[in-house]
Amino acid sequence: SEHELKSLEITDLRVTFDGFRAVDGVSLRVGPGDLRFLIGPNGAGKTTLVDAVTGLAAAGGSVRFGGNELLGRPVHRIARLGIGRTFQTATVFEKLSVLQNLDIAAGARRPLRTLLRQRRGIPEEVGRALETVGLTADRDRPAGTLAHGKKQWLEIGMLLVQDVQLLLLDEPVAGMSHEEREATGELLRRIGRDRTVVVIEHDMDFLRAFASSVTVLHAGRVLSEGTVAEVQADPRVQEVYLGQ
Ligand code: ADP
Repeated sequence: SEHELKSLEITDLRVTFDGFRAVDGVSLRVGPGDLRFLIGPNGAGKTTLVDAVTGLAAAGGSVRFGGNELLGRPVHRIARLGIGRTFQTATVFEKLSVLQNLDIAAGARRPLRTLLRQRRGIPEEVGRALETVGLTADRDRPAGTLAHGKKQWLEIGMLLVQDVQLLLLDEPVAGMSHEEREATGELLRRIGRDRTVVVIEHDMDFLRAFASSVTVLHAGRVLSEGTVAEVQADPRVQEVYLGQ
């Protein structure tokens, strides 16, 4: 890919809600080519961490991507640095086609003069994203008629056309069939080759198959970190999960 590879570096991240420490001094580093999974019991602070990185939650500490400090920047400025996320419920324009959804997402990045110019055919980045997420055959279907899995892929495609280099995905395989999970794992592997990907996920089978590293959060802190096998063997992790 044409862009330089960038790392996410989180240092002593803190998010407080009315005195309650939802994220309580988290430090972690995710390099490009890493497929990092973020796990932990409900309330561990996973979503709040992603909110802080994307500008949706005020936080203390430092979050750097490619050397740029993200904390304190508004959401749209963070997005412009090549950072994007998905939510558990895909947010696509249901009545528009797959192609139109991707085109609109790409438009957010396109200079006005290219928007005004008469366009013929499918823009290159849109065609590439269609292929990467495996939706070429579905490109003219209304997004609302896509199965759950394909909607998630479309949402990922909408990040790819914006040239997102850091993707934060919230439970992307929740509610998916086994086949959809496999395809999603392969997709994450492909896009993770030259991007930085952080995935919140509970499904241990999925982690075993696709995670290159795991960070376990508990009560707003990093409880354990390593390969799937390493964190599974960590007595502190076992204690937290058995204690649920
Ligand atoms: P996870 O994603 O790991 O399940 P969350 O980040 O959603 O955890 O939540 C971490 C803690 O912060 C929870 O105790 C939750 O109740 C609390 N929390 C999250 N968002 C808010 C908010 N907007 N206001 C108050 N408390 C919140």
